[in-house]
Amino acid sequence: MAAGEEEGQAAEPEAAVEEPRSFKDLGVTDVLCEACDQLGWKVPTKIQVEAIPVALQGRDIIGLAETGSGKTGAFALPILQALLETPQRLFALVLTPTRELAFQISEQFEALGSSIGVHTTVIVGGIDTMSQSLALAKKPHVIIATPGRLVDHLENTKGFNLRALKFLVMDEADRILNMDFETEVDKILKVIPRDRKTFLFSATMTKKVQKLQRAALKNPVKCAVSSKYQTVEKLQQYYIFIPSKFKDSYLVYILNELAGNSFMIFCSTCNNTQRTALLLRNLGFTAIPLHGQMSQNKRLGALNKFKAKARSILLATDVASRGLDIPHVDVVINFDIPTHSKDYIHRVGRTARAGRSGKSITFVTQYDVELFQRIEHLIGKKLPAFPMQEEEVMMLTERVAEAQRFARMELREQGEKKRSRNDDDDTEEAIGVRNKVAGGKKKKRKAF
Ligand code: AMP
Repeated sequence: MAAGEEEGQAAEPEAAVEEPRSFKDLGVTDVLCEACDQLGWKVPTKIQVEAIPVALQGRDIIGLAETGSGKTGAFALPILQALLETPQRLFALVLTPTRELAFQISEQFEALGSSIGVHTTVIVGGIDTMSQSLALAKKPHVIIATPGRLVDHLENTKGFNLRALKFLVMDEADRILNMDFETEVDKILKVIPRDRKTFLFSATMTKKVQKLQRAALKNPVKCAVSSKYQTVEKLQQYYIFIPSKFKDSYLVYILNELAGNSFMIFCSTCNNTQRTALLLRNLGFTAIPLHGQMSQNKRLGALNKFKAKARSILLATDVASRGLDIPHVDVVINFDIPTHSKDYIHRVGRTARAGRSGKSITFVTQYDVELFQRIEHLIGKKLPAFPMQEEEVMMLTERVAEAQRFARMELREQGEKKRSRNDDDDTEEAIGVRNKVAGGKKKKRKAF
């Protein structure tokens, strides 16, 4: 536990903190300890050791934890325990920046809370509002929501309000702000009770989050398991410095070199994600895209296919960089370098999870040098170059050029089909095109 601690908070003896502890030692009630046991959670993770006792004392929390640290459990267990003590509908609200993360959090709440009959509902965009209104009418105990759609319901769904709410969690809170959710979050804060507990969790802390603390938190305790931005030790991080026009060939070379692994490849736009997925498929790779211009069903479908290992390459925008728990990612490739250095931490955090090892390779072109230097500065180390045989890359260029031509054609055809159908149903192959078609027309939150 770090700064932000106030008087009245019993100081923990150093030695006790070092000892391995059970959930029971942290004050978790028997029925929830059993639920942890059934999930195979034998001992609490560091952030759970830090946060759970404080949360059980009724304090607000700012949790700063690495990705994959078990932070969902750190806020879910105290909420479930409080719910057991004073059962009530519409008890807790968890705000997350992405839809996938909302489903993932809901799964953990349900797994931990199934034996005590906890009812949760996910409220996110891309899903029909009618069925959501019906689910809200049943008054779940816990709502996990993206802010925009929740505000829609607060404004338009008759009989739905959060006036009795006891817990508010903001997960990946800095992202909620970066994504222009600030207005929505302000609206939500206005209609929920001031007398509530607030947990704010984030792997990276921005100044904006500090701004948010003032608005939403009361006398919070800061729980940090890493004080600066770190990447885990078992992650081998590399870069390659290459001419921009040969990016595709280098990508194919690396995928061949590291064949047999599962890859997450990050691109900067929906359109480039789609294009690169088509390109790789034309070259025989089992690649699948995931980005904000796909329908929600297709997004979950893509994620599940990758999780089930039916696809070995997931190409994604930063929609997938945060919080997603996919145990088997071996290699993260930053095909387009992240413009915000902190996104680097989140992206590479998709591999080397839970004690496994992993690799990350960041593509640096002549245009990206400054951004790359900022990343090195943030993580506090110089990265080695990934070893490559340039001549072998150059031997690939002809085949890659042909696949690029096909990919461009397919993109164009899919775009035309979409326009003529004016249809919202994506095919797995053809997703990003709508982005192009709609580009510039709608003025809305940046999809990524
Ligand atoms: P999170 O950081 O909340 O996304 O959690 C990452 C993964 O760690 C999830 O798959 C959790 O089920 C798992 N997990 C959380 N707490 C524990 C624990 N105490 N022991 C083992 N696994 C855990």
